[in-house]
Amino acid sequence: MADPIDALDFLDLRRLLSDEERAIQDTVRDWVRDRVVPGIEGWFEAAEFPLEVAKELGAMGLLGMHLTGYECSGASAVSYGLACLELEAGDSGFRSFVSVQGSLCMFPIWKFGSKEQKQRWLPPMARGEVVGCFGLTEPDSGSDPASMRTSARREGSDWIVSGTKMWITNGTVADVAVVWAQTDEGIRGFLVPTDTAGFSASDIHRKLSLRASVTSELVLDEVRLPQEAVLPEATGMRGPLSCLTEARFGIVWGAMGAARTCFETALEYSKTRVQWGRPIGGFQLTQRKLADMALELNKGTLLALHLGRMKDEGRLLPSHVSMGKLNNVREALAIAREARGILGASGITLEYPVIRHMNNLESVLTYEGTDEIHTLIVGESLTGLRAYD
Ligand SMILES: Cc1cc2nc3c(=O)[nH]c(=O)nc-3n(C[C@H](O)[C@H](O)[C@H](O)COP(=O)(O)OP(=O)(O)OC[C@H]3O[C@@H](n4cnc5c(N)ncnc54)[C@H](O)[C@@H]3O)c2cc1C
Repeated sequence: MADPIDALDFLDLRRLLSDEERAIQDTVRDWVRDRVVPGIEGWFEAAEFPLEVAKELGAMGLLGMHLTGYECSGASAVSYGLACLELEAGDSGFRSFVSVQGSLCMFPIWKFGSKEQKQRWLPPMARGEVVGCFGLTEPDSGSDPASMRTSARREGSDWIVSGTKMWITNGTVADVAVVWAQTDEGIRGFLVPTDTAGFSASDIHRKLSLRASVTSELVLDEVRLPQEAVLPEATGMRGPLSCLTEARFGIVWGAMGAARTCFETALEYSKTRVQWGRPIGGFQLTQRKLADMALELNKGTLLALHLGRMKDEGRLLPSHVSMGKLNNVREALAIAREARGILGASGITLEYPVIRHMNNLESVLTYEGTDEIHTLIVGESLTGLRAYD
């Protein structure tokens, strides 16, 4: 006889994973259950990220986990994706931390850095002893990052960098900032130790989304850096854009983790909440909602796995990742909103994870390329016509 249906893995997608991938998924899921779930309500409410977990994430091999050498795990793209999914099932803030550290900071050093830069930064970042942040967005430069005003000029053998970066995850807790700036050679990336004179960071407060994540403004006031601070192999927008493609890949998976938690919560609630003398899950309209949520959860997870296999085969293009981010964040938000409704009034409190995930996903919708920008990237791929500049 066939196994009974697992409501959280309706299509039995776990069977498509290798033993090693399943083991990584289980390890991260257990860690999230033990270390994230018990504290997350409090951290979200207090608007704190528990930075002490950085070394635990490092010890599990999750920081720069898809990179090779320099104490990085060298895991497959699918394994990295599964880790993102499980982390974001806990809270988007934790997946954001891992994405920023691994994909936005360690990846450009690994890909575009000198041997000395890799040796200096990557091992302690993989261990979670050194935290990075990625400074691309500015107050007047968001979806169009090439319009950035931060600039760097040469002075003798040094560089002088000035400008303001906005909405920077981990800005005030970072030891090193990867800062992108205009130069007379095009856009270049700089590794800025955050204790360098002229560098300062302050937190952005009053967020109603991603509260368990540090978001900051960076000010670079004539920051003097040696030539060794420049990423030698990155010139132009190719540098930052390739980092964003890496991080977006993690979001394709992570969004399905947030969606899974919302679906699971709504499903359980619908089986225990009684109105009109029976569980609300027994009403046809509720079952329609749950069935639609399960459809999109399974389709989105399958899409993430497909893109992961393509990445492991070296066939994944940036526009594939755009399609994944566009679909999975959009559907995760729809699932979160539907789950919120199923919980009725209970759905608006932090007692349940749903509204926290729903609010977090509003940030995930915006960062790493908005819904609109990914739509236009897919549109450009389809037509050969670029509609966003
Ligand atoms: C919590 C959080 C953390 C973040 N962390 C980082 C980080 O670590 N590092 C970093 O560099 N940045 C970070 N960001 C910034 C993020 O990447 C930007 O917010 C994002 O790129 C969008 O830019 P913007 O907010 O300036 O919006 P805008 O670019 O001003 O866009 C506003 C609206 O206009 C739409 N729009 C823009 N252009 C077009 C167009 N051509 N056609 C149709 N619609 C268009 C957008 O889709 C959006 O709906 C973070 C943001 C958040 C919210």
